[in-house]
Amino acid sequence: MKWLPWWEPTDSVPKVESIQDVVRTGLCISCGACVSAAPQSSMRMVLDKRGRIYVPEILDPSAVSGRGPEFEACPGVGLPLGKLSADLLGEGMDMTLELGRYRLAIAARSTDSSILAEASSGGVMTEIAAHLLEKGYVDGVTIARFEYGPNGLRPVSLIARSREDLITGQGSKYCPTLTNLLVRECIAEGGRYLFSGTPCQVGALRLAMSRQPEAAKVFPYTMGNFCGGYRDYRLIDWLISKHGFVPSEVKFFRFRGGGQPGTMVIETRNGRRVSEPYPNYARGSGIPKLKRYVLHRRDRGTGRLRLWRRVAGPVHVPGHPVVDHPGPV
Ligand SMILES: Cc1cc2nc3c(=O)[nH]c(=O)nc-3n(C[C@H](O)[C@H](O)[C@H](O)COP(=O)(O)OP(=O)(O)OC[C@H]3O[C@@H](n4cnc5c(N)ncnc54)[C@H](O)[C@@H]3O)c2cc1C
Ligand code: SF4
Repeated sequence: MKWLPWWEPTDSVPKVESIQDVVRTGLCISCGACVSAAPQSSMRMVLDKRGRIYVPEILDPSAVSGRGPEFEACPGVGLPLGKLSADLLGEGMDMTLELGRYRLAIAARSTDSSILAEASSGGVMTEIAAHLLEKGYVDGVTIARFEYGPNGLRPVSLIARSREDLITGQGSKYCPTLTNLLVRECIAEGGRYLFSGTPCQVGALRLAMSRQPEAAKVFPYTMGNFCGGYRDYRLIDWLISKHGFVPSEVKFFRFRGGGQPGTMVIETRNGRRVSEPYPNYARGSGIPKLKRYVLHRRDRGTGRLRLWRRVAGPVHVPGHPVVDHPGPV
């Protein structure tokens, strides 16, 4: 295997030995994997004091130390991307930090106009998910959609069971989502699911799978989008207030959709609407992206721990069925 480096390694790595350290050093990406890996009811996710992200809280210190399975499943510490992709695809291939290892790269889009209407890109994630559901390969798919409450909007993670459900979850949420909390729920319910989420979330699932055989059974398929990182919930509130709205007025929000590269849209209950091209709106918010270290390995020569900042890549599963969708592409 040959590494094709593009990202700069960094040695300025905080010492992280527990879930508490992950949160303290700002490395938590708010995925919920720790809560899913911990004993039932021993942990939960709570909004942090500044309302930025959900972070784990230990409810039962006699059952959870923060250094056990909950820590082993945490992608905030860094993901052994090289090992994870070698376990899936073998050692033989070249690897880029952006893509990981890959068998085949193809460009595609959905030809279903109802999927294309709200897709962030070409609707491929939703089309593949719909195919797996409708052909009976899976019973459900993890998705994220916005819910609107008196304090504004936040994403919720849930299981989609139909094409219609999938469409309600379309569109990129450029903010944290609690997708890995669904792992516990799916294991408890049984069946087969497509785990769809950000690459770090898929990586967290892979860590859990290596320890929990039942997780591997329940999630025969995974699908990750590309991810250049994201800001916290304050970005949503900032966008809403920047356009002169108050969060409780909002009845619809999307970061991106309606064509390529698409627009952000805010609609209020009293009929006001604003749209702004992607990605103009994220500039100038002053809200930093969540920190991530996604790869770690020991340098052969020095034995030093090296980490790379940023990086994401889709995780491909061998034998993943190909969507054979007739029609123009
Ligand atoms: C946080 C984030 C950062 C990204 N950064 C980049 C980038 O830098 N460069 C790039 O080329 N592409 C990036 N993407 C990918 C891009 O925005 C689209 O998500 C992707 O191309 C899929 O488009 P689609 O039309 O096939 O998906 P759609 O049909 O719109 O479906 C998207 C699916 O992803 C799910 N989803 C959306 N957001 C989240 C989330 N935060 N957590 C879990 N599930 C989610 C939705 O519920 C839906 O099921 C990013 C996406 C996200 C979520
Ligand atoms: S597993 Fe996820 S939610 Fe838990 S500490 Fe790590 S990054 Fe944060």
